[in-house]
Amino acid sequence: MKAQPPASHFIDGEYVEDIAGAAFDSIYPATGEVIARLHAATPAIVEKAIAAAKRAQGEWAALSPTARGRILKRAADIMRERNRELSELETLDTGKPIQETIVADPTSGADAFEFFGGVAAAALNGDYIPLGGDFAYTKRVPLGVCVGIGAWNYPQQIACWKGAPALISGNAMVFKPSENTPLGALKIAEILHEAGLPKGLYNVIQGDRTTGPLLVNHKDVAKVSLTGSVETGRKVAGAAASSLKHVTMELGGKSPLIVFEDADIESAIGGAMLGNFYSTGQVCSNGTRVFVHRKIKQQFLARLKERTEKIVIGDPMIEETQLGPMVSRAQLDKVFAYIEKGKAEGATLVTGGGIPNNVPAEGTYIQPTVFADVTDDMTICREEIFGPVMCVLDFDNEDEVIARANGTEFGLSAGVFTADLTRGHRVADRLEAGTLWINTYNLAPVEVPFGGSKQSGFGRENSLAALNHYTELKSVYVAMGPVQSPY
Ligand code: NAD
Repeated sequence: MKAQPPASHFIDGEYVEDIAGAAFDSIYPATGEVIARLHAATPAIVEKAIAAAKRAQGEWAALSPTARGRILKRAADIMRERNRELSELETLDTGKPIQETIVADPTSGADAFEFFGGVAAAALNGDYIPLGGDFAYTKRVPLGVCVGIGAWNYPQQIACWKGAPALISGNAMVFKPSENTPLGALKIAEILHEAGLPKGLYNVIQGDRTTGPLLVNHKDVAKVSLTGSVETGRKVAGAAASSLKHVTMELGGKSPLIVFEDADIESAIGGAMLGNFYSTGQVCSNGTRVFVHRKIKQQFLARLKERTEKIVIGDPMIEETQLGPMVSRAQLDKVFAYIEKGKAEGATLVTGGGIPNNVPAEGTYIQPTVFADVTDDMTICREEIFGPVMCVLDFDNEDEVIARANGTEFGLSAGVFTADLTRGHRVADRLEAGTLWINTYNLAPVEVPFGGSKQSGFGRENSLAALNHYTELKSVYVAMGPVQSPY
């Protein structure tokens, strides 16, 4: 098999197998071919991983942040050296075109190791608090064993975005990738150890929705960071609450992207396409509700259709391919069901909606799809589809569009395209979302906090803000004189 790893799990610095765990296949979505066969973690594997993490964490936390950072930076260098190999693996895992993975996946993971490795020496300092003779100081201390649970759209990036801040802060991690994309995180674990990470600090175990709770409910786990759907987020946050664990929730969205009549239309169309078709639409922050000012609607739709129909669909391993398959047949079926619903509820199908020509029948391909005349109450406008389906809505004025953009339970991201500088900031200020873009869409560099509000989650990944979610403050009061006691 094309991508068979030495074993299913990576624990305590080595590959580990336990064939008592339920067997599952890793499928290359472009061809339907089985590329690896793995086993889900048994309770014994879960115990082994958490015990290894717990054992290793204390010594790791005692190192200086600079010493920890050196290892992460080395891992970043190795990832960049092996970018092609890692990108091909990511393409096999997800079906995303190599044109994307080569610039967006391992490289973004490497950015996280480089950034956190570099900033830690200064960013993990505490404060000195003068108290008039007495004083206090604060220390930023690690939480202990942190669990990361990943979605299937950015397997390597998610493994690194959670691993880097956890490790630099002095924690150990047990990471469970999505059962749809089990391969990338194992390589990240391998590379971290090659870079010098002591064994036990970054462990990867496989499994699905039945394995996750074993981690979330474990008494030795201090924190859970989930990237997944809102539904899973509710379950994981609920389970974590029963033992008062720290949680970070990176969940779904139905984000608005607003195009005003003065926007650079070509640029706005480019942003809308990026924010709907990149990674075959499987991006949490996608701007799937595209509000276009009525004055420019016809012009916008005509060019959007023309540009969408030129998208190159096909073999993800060919550099020219711009759109690969969906990650799985289940996800493909879900997206087609939404397309049918869109038609039934009266939206106008501008382009797409079917299976592209000249793709393997076993591949899970779909045409990039645009609906126009979408209204706020339609199912396709309210629910996260997680596929390449763009909904275009009309609007007439700023107050109206802001109210409609905010009329959702989600609050992950939002975008605005306008030539008016003050309007750009004013609208960004009023949109309810954790991450906003003005005159671009979906850029998420490691320097900038990323995360959601409302039902899209809480906590932030990337940037110095992420360190707050992997550490807690210890305050130490120091008396400089005798105790003034009334007794
Ligand atoms: P999912 O919620 O089905 O699964 C996510 C992960 O949670 C998987 O590893 C799964 O095995 C695990 N899981 C499922 N039930 C669990 C439980 N009860 N306890 C513990 N773990 C459990 O999501 P998905 O289909 O893999 O990914 C798509 C979703 O992820 C979309 O909603 C998307 O918006 C979201 N997402 C969010 C972000 C973000 O940063 N905000 C990024 C990527 C994806």
